[in-house]
Amino acid sequence: MMLNMKDITVHYGKALAVEKVSIEAEKGKIVIIVGSNGAGKTTLLKVLSGLKAPTSGEIWFEGKRIDGMKPFEIVRLGIVHVPEGRRLFPYLTVLENLKLGASARSDRSGINSDLEKVFESFPILKERRNQKSESMSGGEQQMLAIGRALMARPKFLLLDEPSLGLAPKVVDDLYYIIRDIHESGVSVLLVEQNVSLALRLAHYGYVLEIGSVILQGDMDELKDNEIINRAYLGE
Ligand code: ATP
Repeated sequence: MMLNMKDITVHYGKALAVEKVSIEAEKGKIVIIVGSNGAGKTTLLKVLSGLKAPTSGEIWFEGKRIDGMKPFEIVRLGIVHVPEGRRLFPYLTVLENLKLGASARSDRSGINSDLEKVFESFPILKERRNQKSESMSGGEQQMLAIGRALMARPKFLLLDEPSLGLAPKVVDDLYYIIRDIHESGVSVLLVEQNVSLALRLAHYGYVLEIGSVILQGDMDELKDNEIINRAYLGE
């Protein structure tokens, strides 16, 4: 396994947020975590990228134990997080935001060629490169947040609710964007409340409720599962 999160328990102060959750991800796959508000999805991504310390449990990435590492060290290993709500720098331009994505790197020519690639994938970002990011639409900001993550050359991309607040047409674009990123060789861990989008993309998935995994399986198992159909797809 490329990623192995073992028995992760997380507290905020005394409050338990995640209890003994284990998540695995194979290289080259798209793994999804779905579940309602407050289930602990964002917390798991924060723990994985070093932004929040787990109370107990272990995280292994490509054979290395990474829990306890600093966020920048984890980025250097190739784990790159696109946070919920995009977290852009609103007063910086599109280009400045993109360059910040590469701040853990020092290979200038690689950075420039990755910038060109991002502009090729997202022509709108090239067009708007000198505009402040706050002036862009929600969909464009999501593309910028993903573009910024790609500037860090991820091996393993963490996407937290990328479809949140986007119009259906833009959610459709997002589907192709995530598919293309995956096809370029990046493994993906996707957290979504839009379960139908997540199921279209996933190879394997976990359903998290109130801090615990209640269901896991490959795409076919999840698609046929009654809990998923009733609770999340309203069928
Ligand atoms: P959402 O989709 O709403 O972001 P989620 O599944 O990502 O939900 P988390 O944000 O991980 O859920 O929250 C899990 C639990 O931890 C919730 O009970 C939440 O109230 C709590 N929690 C999250 N962040 C904090 C924090 N900074 N301080 C205290 N409690 C928190």
